[in-house]
Amino acid sequence: MTAPAFPAGTILGYPRIGRRRELKRAVEAYWAGRIDRAELERRTAELRSATRARLIELGLGRDDSALPDSFAAYDQVLDTALAVGAVPERFAHLRTADGSVDVDGEFALARGEAGQPPLEMTKWFDTNYHYLVPEIGPETAFGAHPERLVTRFAEALGEGVLTRPVLVGPVTLLALAKPAAEAPEGFRPLDALERLLPVYAELLARLAEAGAAWVQLDEPALASESLDESPARLREAAARAYAVLGTAARRPALFIATPYGGIGEGLDVLAAAPVEAIGLDLVRGELPSGLDDTTRAGLAGKTLVAGVVDGRNIWRGDLAAAFDRAAALDGLAGSLAIATSTSLQHVPHDLADEQRLDPRLASWLAFADQKVAQVATLARGLADGRRTIESELADASAALVDRAGAPGVRVPAVRERLAALSDADFARVAYDARVEAQLDLGLPELPTTTIGSFPQTGELRRARAALAGGELDEAGYRALIEQEIERVVRLQEELGLDVLVHGEPERNDMVQYFAELLDGFAVTEHGWVQSYGSRCTRPSILWGDVSRPAPMTVGWSAYAQSLTERHLKGMLTGPVTILAWSFVRDDQPLGDTARQVGLALRDEIADLEAAGIRIIQVDEPALRELLPLRRADQPAYLDWSVGAFRLATGGAAPATQVHTHLCYSEFGVVIDAIRGLDADVTSIEAARSRMEVVEDLGRSGFDHGVGPGVYDIHSPRVPGEDEVRELLERAVAEVPASRLWVNPDCGLKTRGYAETVASLAHLVGAARSVRESL
Ligand code: GLN
Ligand code: ZN
Repeated sequence: MTAPAFPAGTILGYPRIGRRRELKRAVEAYWAGRIDRAELERRTAELRSATRARLIELGLGRDDSALPDSFAAYDQVLDTALAVGAVPERFAHLRTADGSVDVDGEFALARGEAGQPPLEMTKWFDTNYHYLVPEIGPETAFGAHPERLVTRFAEALGEGVLTRPVLVGPVTLLALAKPAAEAPEGFRPLDALERLLPVYAELLARLAEAGAAWVQLDEPALASESLDESPARLREAAARAYAVLGTAARRPALFIATPYGGIGEGLDVLAAAPVEAIGLDLVRGELPSGLDDTTRAGLAGKTLVAGVVDGRNIWRGDLAAAFDRAAALDGLAGSLAIATSTSLQHVPHDLADEQRLDPRLASWLAFADQKVAQVATLARGLADGRRTIESELADASAALVDRAGAPGVRVPAVRERLAALSDADFARVAYDARVEAQLDLGLPELPTTTIGSFPQTGELRRARAALAGGELDEAGYRALIEQEIERVVRLQEELGLDVLVHGEPERNDMVQYFAELLDGFAVTEHGWVQSYGSRCTRPSILWGDVSRPAPMTVGWSAYAQSLTERHLKGMLTGPVTILAWSFVRDDQPLGDTARQVGLALRDEIADLEAAGIRIIQVDEPALRELLPLRRADQPAYLDWSVGAFRLATGGAAPATQVHTHLCYSEFGVVIDAIRGLDADVTSIEAARSRMEVVEDLGRSGFDHGVGPGVYDIHSPRVPGEDEVRELLERAVAEVPASRLWVNPDCGLKTRGYAETVASLAHLVGAARSVRESL
């Protein structure tokens, strides 16, 4: 086919949540029954229309397929799964007469329904976005359901905008799926590829009929070495998939995007395939080099889409370098275009909404809208020559120079302290000696505790808003929080928990709370990014050298400890998690930044100890999330991430018991890292996998304290005492009782009080009865 020209500049996707979180408001109102379906559709259509108008205003083309249609009411993976009919058997009743699933069915899959848990949710590559995991088996009744894609395409066309529909590609869709419950042992979702391809072909045909010139298929699986399928098998699957789709009778031109990293030999595969455009992530990935003649010949007839504008962070960056990186590819392919490295769904909408950010800091930043403008600039430069954009490049370079020399970016005292560290600062005395030193804590066998937060009530959120709005003063706020702490402490005493927490009522978020108190961070007002479904987070901006001007948690923890004879567990967020859930400076290695955060936490731990706190938990739920997708990059990551945690905790006295908490159960690659953390006690998620993780830990030779979660806090369900006892008995069979702790899977902040109290009562009851049977 002769392909229509690919747009000179484009983005792989745009935030869909809305600059004032309109999507969140609309779907939550719909779930709550406050608006009907017609109103939901009206609001989402309005949001899409506003997005298109904005992208065109920012410089993307109206009629050249430059605008991706990356909308999804809940999740892009779920949308693609539904477009190909991948509905798990247990949800078959959600299909309507024509076999498709409507928006109500979509929400049921995402959120579960009576007696039917939702699709599992997990992290999208190494980001903090969560997708819904498709369930695929040999019986999955694939079928093309292009209606929504076609309707949205027509909706845009009605406004005179030619969009580019975006789908998750077939290889990635299967690589991210899990085998359906009914699938036979050994079945892998990728085995279903042959059956799936005709369905994609049908979708393409229908989009071509509707008038789509280009379709984007996202294949980030080609950039990952951390999936269940090997990179070689994924490449083989891609070769097959695009040989089939590329020769489909009727289809739009195909743009295969490969965000989140380099694809190495994957480029040879795509170059050889009968597709029209290939997108490379040139921020995380390398410039293609050493290509063989076949690959060069393959590229000669295609568009290479250079992802040089970083879709993952909020820095304005080195625009001139980005241009040069793209320009270096000139001549390698038939034509060259500019794009973001990934979808912009990972960054907030618009910097212009941040009226309270320091203007100097703001001049170093670019949110989604600013990045779209950067793409448009670079595309203009490619078309008309570098000199036509020289002033934009120079402005960006000047901002970089300003940033490098600005106060706070490099603080000599912080740097000197880091430079003076020695190996001893990263290590505590041997575990056995610590166990000895901690005996006087006087803990029973199978001590019971919680992970930190207690339910966050509406009253607390209102109080925080009132404090921010000036209607409540510091003293009034403090009194409210102290009241809440006292209530939570008394409740835990009544329940009979052994190690208490203060409940974290003062925290809006486990990272932002610390970011607001540390030097080197800024927080935004509207910088929301989608975490999953209607849930958003507002990552802080870590822009300068980090230090701790004053204690951050000591007042609350000491107050809580003053109320009780039992041990009160101090509660901190670890350095890796603070980095993972913030936008982090890109002008120095992450490890250097992590160590700065580690030092600040080390100071906090020393102050907690001085205030009489004997047990301190440092949460690292994001340790797994930041793991690089490429194996070769993993050892260095594990080295600095473990190092930063050890630096944070390495100053704790042997008698202080250090806990950590990790919220997932897929350990595989990080098991050595967990051991490396050298925490006295590690709590982990285990209830959903029925303690399997305890066996894994046992096999790995893990010999410190461990608290496998016995209460799944992800649902309002109250586990019975027998159920908890059974899980505990399984754990006792694997781990000596002297090292075993009893706790929920994670914090309780998203739960209600009624179910929390009932569940914790069962947890304590089960621990007591297992203790007696020992
Ligand atoms: N201490 C935190 C809490 O209980 C841990 C949260 C998490 O692991 N995500 O809320
Ligand atoms: Zn957790």
